[in-house]
Amino acid sequence: MMSTEFNLIKQYFTRPTAQTALGIGDDAALIQTSTDHQLAISSDMSVVGTHFFQNTAPYDIGWKSLAVNVSDLAAMGANPKWATLAIALPEINPDWLSAFSAGFFDCADAFNIDLIGGDTTRGPLNISITIMGEVPMGKALTRRGAQLGDDIWVSGYLGHAALGLAHLQLKIKLPDEIRDTAIAALHQPQPCVALGLALRDVANSCIDISDGLLADLSHILKASRANLTGNEAMGATLQLEKISCSATLQNRLQEPIIQQAILAGGDDYELCFTASSNQRKTIAAIAKQLAINLTRIGEINESGNLTVQFEQQNINITTLGYDHFA
Ligand code: ADP
Ligand code: MG
Repeated sequence: MMSTEFNLIKQYFTRPTAQTALGIGDDAALIQTSTDHQLAISSDMSVVGTHFFQNTAPYDIGWKSLAVNVSDLAAMGANPKWATLAIALPEINPDWLSAFSAGFFDCADAFNIDLIGGDTTRGPLNISITIMGEVPMGKALTRRGAQLGDDIWVSGYLGHAALGLAHLQLKIKLPDEIRDTAIAALHQPQPCVALGLALRDVANSCIDISDGLLADLSHILKASRANLTGNEAMGATLQLEKISCSATLQNRLQEPIIQQAILAGGDDYELCFTASSNQRKTIAAIAKQLAINLTRIGEINESGNLTVQFEQQNINITTLGYDHFA
């Protein structure tokens, strides 16, 4: 007799694979890695009540739980290829599972990822994904390569996902013209894989913005300080008005809630990277080629601190970003 668990896996999670030697169905999957490459591996868990609401659309939960994993590989300059999915479900709800797997596989298809295995158990809704991808030997982008004098760049628009969340929590009421964009940014983030690949020989350091720009940039500073040889103290100065955001937000930069969303709002999954000023033309060409926004928002310096200026004045930083245990 076939078990319910087996049927569930077959029905909702087994799809043909494109780049996998042995996929779902055995005790382990087998993957063939390319020569002269390194495997980049990352895990991210999505928990009901922490990462999404109980009533979040299952399609969006499926999309986002994979997308946040893809984003980590994008930040490494790696090409995502394989994922495993460990899921705890409170019950078998066919409608929920169909929509979840549609969102998951739409994201997988968008980035050419094979689902190669996982685990399924009963429990409070919890989705744990491990993603694997490849990067040519020695070419990975890391947090530790920032150099004094580097330009600091970000991709896309910041602040939308945090504002979308605040809107859904009824903490603010977003104007119509950005409401849908903000909620889409929260529910269906678009990881910057093509950008990560393009930055391999261009950026000195890179991170994806999951917890908030300032929190994630400070991870770069902390990791890169370790490489300083002399007595210099690595810091960074940013100009708030240079950080690209929608016109609506640009007009409201004075408001603390908008500043906070842009600087410390999590969940945007854009990339923050540093590069030598020699790379400005190359970076402009990448932006044009990929039809994305890349904006230079500040520089790595010897100040030892992370400072944000708005109209030439230092602004008071109250929080760097989201911390699960703060
Ligand atoms: P085992 O008991 O040997 O661990 P399982 O019954 O847990 O095997 O899983 C059977 C197969 O289905 C394995 O190949 C496993 O990787 C895969 N699998 C289980 N759950 C999932 C899931 N949620 N998504 C994708 N593959 C899954
Ligand atoms: Mg198992």
